[in-house]
Amino acid sequence: MTDLYRVLPEEVDKLVTSMEQPRYRADQLLHMLYNEFPKDISSMRQLPAEMRNALSTAGYTIGSADEVHRVVSEDGQTTKLLLKLGDGTLIETVLMQYRKNKGRPRSTVCVSTQVGCQMGCTFCATGQMGFERNLKAEEIVAQVLHFASVLRERGEHVTNLVFMGMGEPLANYTETIRAVKLLTNARAFGLGQRHITISTVGVMKEIDRLADEDLQIGLAISLHAPNDELRRKLVPTAGPHSVGDLISATRSYFKKTGRRVTLEYALINGVNDSPEIAAELATLLKGNGAHVNLIPVNPTAGGFQRPRWKRITEFERILRESDVNCTVRVEKGSEISAACGQLRTDTAKNL
Ligand code: SF4
Repeated sequence: MTDLYRVLPEEVDKLVTSMEQPRYRADQLLHMLYNEFPKDISSMRQLPAEMRNALSTAGYTIGSADEVHRVVSEDGQTTKLLLKLGDGTLIETVLMQYRKNKGRPRSTVCVSTQVGCQMGCTFCATGQMGFERNLKAEEIVAQVLHFASVLRERGEHVTNLVFMGMGEPLANYTETIRAVKLLTNARAFGLGQRHITISTVGVMKEIDRLADEDLQIGLAISLHAPNDELRRKLVPTAGPHSVGDLISATRSYFKKTGRRVTLEYALINGVNDSPEIAAELATLLKGNGAHVNLIPVNPTAGGFQRPRWKRITEFERILRESDVNCTVRVEKGSEISAACGQLRTDTAKNL
């Protein structure tokens, strides 16, 4: 069985030719997949019955990602879904919307790339869950399309995409990149490459490979600490890769792609949020040109707490005084288990 949502447009062309159908049928098929979101091949009525039958006979199918749970934050801007895949696996997908004045909102979908995660970050609910399996490209695409169809009913559309949900995207490199190609191809979903960010905890060899892909996507590296000793406590799988290695990876990614890397820093009360650590981070990054995203953590089962607001702004001030670009990104919707892995953990207890 092959899910049509994993077939790249150039492969669709070959498939249509092999079925002795005219070339325009390929465009028709792609248009239906990415604009009408059909649930099965038999509902694609614009295709001739002969072609629909040939697709089914050849083992093509359309997989399912069914919504089993939805929570919306009080301000209505964050929606978190629990989706059930064909094999019964549950994954999380989040929509975050930002509306400026009365204009159309920026609608960012945050997708998962794995079920669970083997990186084991100590402050992360997904990391504590362990690793089950990699998602396939079509299962990543399905998460985006699910929200695309929800948004279309409101006359809105997906504007941005971040690979920051459950899992380490670069540990599932091939399927992640295939999903990026499907979602950015103008004949498929057609999202601009510059509207996509992949977030990694630092799979070094894959960062280099990504830089060579000739893609204009953004990269975010989760740093979380200015020194190796503290980082290994938070990211136990950091292994032989030092903080220095990560900083040089940001430079070489920028050199090859022209795109600046964002450094993500989860701020955890009493762990990595002191003024001394802020000063150490400032020294490490001074003159580097990197942008730091400070993310006060949502409380998780690991017992980690978000710092008080005064401590967060002090950390930010110290970085800014050293001319390190930074912003504080408060993860929205802690009341809806917005941190990665939390909804699945919380909901699975009741399913
Ligand atoms: S923070 Fe990301 S990389 Fe770390 S365990 Fe959680 S999902 Fe995996």
